[in-house]
Amino acid sequence: LTKYASKVAGAVMHEEGVLDCNEVDRREAMANDKIEFIWNSTLSSINGGDSVTSVTVRNVLTGAEEQVDATGVFSFVGMVPQTDILPDTISKDVHGYIKVDRHQATSMAGVYAVGDCTDTPLRQVVTAAGNGAVAEVSVERYLKETAQLEKIMADTKGNEAVMFYSPYDESSVDRLEHVEALLTPRYKVNLDDITSQTLLYHQLNISSSFAVALYEQGHLKQVVDLNQDSAESKLSLVRQ
Ligand SMILES: Cc1cc2nc3c(=O)[nH]c(=O)nc-3n(C[C@H](O)[C@H](O)[C@H](O)COP(=O)(O)OP(=O)(O)OC[C@H]3O[C@@H](n4cnc5c(N)ncnc54)[C@H](O)[C@@H]3O)c2cc1C
Repeated sequence: LTKYASKVAGAVMHEEGVLDCNEVDRREAMANDKIEFIWNSTLSSINGGDSVTSVTVRNVLTGAEEQVDATGVFSFVGMVPQTDILPDTISKDVHGYIKVDRHQATSMAGVYAVGDCTDTPLRQVVTAAGNGAVAEVSVERYLKETAQLEKIMADTKGNEAVMFYSPYDESSVDRLEHVEALLTPRYKVNLDDITSQTLLYHQLNISSSFAVALYEQGHLKQVVDLNQDSAESKLSLVRQ
């Protein structure tokens, strides 16, 4: 505010020198000549007609009231995220904001968070709405992938292979058909584009951009990193 106003009077509930902010901001504010702090005080009224002319400030220790000339009022009461209702399985930062990744996913699979309660760097209407759009797409993908996975696990008679690849990795795209041919007909091959489908990829802790997970009768038999030189020989063994 001191960038725009010639003088800023700040009513602060705490005793002299105590501000609810980090130490760097506190020192900067205390050293700013344009700011006059009114300690141990709260605002009891905003006065004026068509526009603000003054505010009444009340000392919380003595109850004494003081009128301060003002042409504008900006309220800032701080923020405390009300996230105690969430289980510990949903990670929060030291201030209680919910930790989310760029898909708005929390640490609990299938749970997404958006807006002011998250550890976002900017808390505004536009960011909250943007978070909501991202979360909506993430939830849709999660539900779709969960259904696909359930179908694979439910195949307790046959063998299923889930091949993870990135469409941006040309060498793996070129090898898709070849690897698929190695696995067929023993396995029914499902393709998983890791740029849009990440559920099983993360669940299996895979880091390679080209890999295959082999399921037999609904159970995971092995994961083969297709970027490793030994991959083809491993797949040949699997075929036997
Ligand atoms: C004084 C002030 C001025 C602001 N000015 C601007 C501005 O000019 N421009 C701007 O972009 N942003 C501004 N913001 C920030 C903006 O309002 C927020 O970033 C935005 O509203 C966040 O949206 P949200 O959906 O995350 O949370 P909210 O809008 O706070 O919505 C959360 C909702 O959840 C409800 N709720 C809470 N707990 C529960 C519960 N247990 N069960 C059910 N419901 C619950 C609440 O009642 C509320 O309706 C301002 C904020 C404040 C406080």
